Amino acid sequence: MKVKNIYLLLFFLIQIQTFGWGFFAHKRINRLAVFTLPAEMLPFFKQNILFITENAINPDQRRYAVDGEAPKHYIDIDIYGDSAIYKMPKFWKSAVEKYSEDTLIAYGTNPWHVYKMKFELTEAFKQMDAKRILRLAADMGHYIADGNVPLHTTHNYNGQYTNQVGIHGFWETRLVELYSDEYDFFVGKADYIKNPQLKAWEAITNAHLALDSVLKFEKKLTQEFDVDKKYTFDERGGMTVKTYSKAFCKVYHTMLDGQVERRMIASIKMIGDFWYTCWVDAGQPDLSLILDFKFSKEDEAEMKRETEQWQQKQIETRPEGSLKGEHDNHHAHQNCCGHHDFFTYKLQLVKQFEK
Ligand SMILES: [Zn+2]
Ligand SMILES: [Zn+2]
Repeated sequence: MKVKNIYLLLFFLIQIQTFGWGFFAHKRINRLAVFTLPAEMLPFFKQNILFITENAINPDQRRYAVDGEAPKHYIDIDIYGDSAIYKMPKFWKSAVEKYSEDTLIAYGTNPWHVYKMKFELTEAFKQMDAKRILRLAADMGHYIADGNVPLHTTHNYNGQYTNQVGIHGFWETRLVELYSDEYDFFVGKADYIKNPQLKAWEAITNAHLALDSVLKFEKKLTQEFDVDKKYTFDERGGMTVKTYSKAFCKVYHTMLDGQVERRMIASIKMIGDFWYTCWVDAGQPDLSLILDFKFSKEDEAEMKRETEQWQQKQIETRPEGSLKGEHDNHHAHQNCCGHHDFFTYKLQLVKQFEK
């Protein structure tokens, strides 16, 4: 290999990136939430558990294709000043009055979006619209899980202001992939939520309170590890990717003392609680009446088309979870995020080598 090619290879070494919990975590969280449901809901959800699981990642797939999608996944609460987590008006209308809609959208709307979806899913249950129930339930699971991630509650979402770039995917994807098989996901039965808007904020608050350790421990460990011990190169989908070394992950994960597990469990429980609450508020409709629901061939073709469109269209929005800097090579970010297929990116890589 020519020296020039080696540089090219180094330049294009792809780092696994994710947006929200990694795909693996989102799917697992949605799937496990199904088992929190009461006997009246369980058969319908179990019957469609594959859909709920596989479509847990739709919002992330839309993220770079649909205008206005990105802010629903996070809230940079620290942008609003000290103790903003406690001071921010909890309801959308009051928050808009205080900060303006543009500002809220600029810094993320996760807890308000979850609350909005609560009404939509309740309505779908009322209508007994199986297709809508499933699509909304899967989406809602995604946004709830995102709101439980510490790095989804800060302007410094990828450590870009504290010289810790890459920490986003490190915490929510790398650690989950390495250790979540050891977690105990028993969360018990879903409970009715009296105030869903405040519940959505409770998740953000708990996630935000965990943020300090997320950043502080990584910083401390980085001082103790040589760079070549901190990172390693892994094979992913037939490609070499730069990622955090197992040794670094292990010490960090131990320092976090069950934090990732707690945030995952909180996500699962909260999703079950929201699904259940929507069903109760819809008047506890008899879901056995839609038990034999199946997506039609046309529905399936339409969903496939939709996914393809999401993958093709790329709009400018902030990248997240990259090991690179925030603004460098924006298009490469979009194309090499862990959520788009590696194949497309691999092709780009091959083309670079052919030049
Ligand atoms: Zn994320
Ligand atoms: Zn997300």
